[in-house]
Amino acid sequence: MDHANTPPCALTIAGSDSGGGAGIQADLKTFAAHGVHGLSAIAALTAQHTRGVTAVHVPPVAFLRAQIDACFEDFDIGAVKLGMLASAEVIHSVADALEAHRPPHVVVDPVMVATSGARLLEADALDALRTRLLPLATVLTPNTPEAELLLGHAIADGAAADEAILALRALGAGAVLLKGGHLHEGDTVTDRYADDATTTRWRQPRMDVDGHGTGCTLASAIAASLCLGRTPVDACAAAIGYVHDALARGYAPGRGDVLVLDHF
Ligand code: PLP
Repeated sequence: MDHANTPPCALTIAGSDSGGGAGIQADLKTFAAHGVHGLSAIAALTAQHTRGVTAVHVPPVAFLRAQIDACFEDFDIGAVKLGMLASAEVIHSVADALEAHRPPHVVVDPVMVATSGARLLEADALDALRTRLLPLATVLTPNTPEAELLLGHAIADGAAADEAILALRALGAGAVLLKGGHLHEGDTVTDRYADDATTTRWRQPRMDVDGHGTGCTLASAIAASLCLGRTPVDACAAAIGYVHDALARGYAPGRGDVLVLDHF
């Protein structure tokens, strides 16, 4: 077998979106668009369309662990992306697996609540996320509401966001990308980045659309770029550009008033 032109492999451990806009489905499309072979371990299944989540099923953690172990036993995994993990039990199981397999990079999207309002992480799982997963993260990608829950206080404006990103880093992640979409800073959106060497921000005009799956796509684009050898700060810059362009070309596949990203 000739392995010479094999692309790098990235693994997503996340939830399935039956509507194909977010979760595992968005992650695999993003990996493919970056020329990275996508692997998946499904931590939760959602019955979902463009108007909301109608049901959630969480498979037994032993089965999730079997999926993760199967991937690590056979593939050289350059980066892992974590998305919807549903419960503290799932988070502990994923943390155990990552500690056993030690992938070079882990991107943690701390998925808690969908844009539609559906809860995607049980309330008592926050502590497990903070203590078990953040120390394993190469890059942590919270939006403002997720950052507020992780820190336990409100982030009211840009100055508070500048302080929040430092406090988030202190929770153990190597780098933090704090997404500014939920913060009202005029007609622009500012994403803030910090690691131990670099603090930077990217500002762009606010797009007046309701996007679905943007967070999943951003985190998996970062994971794909890390697989391809980019540094965390370069991976974040490239991922922000990828999401922006895919949203600008976005389309509405269902009856809901949301756009999914165009990965084609
Ligand atoms: N469904 C699943 C399985 C997800 O992982 C996520 C977000 O990460 C969502 C839905 C929410 O997507 P959005 O908030 O972009 O609508």
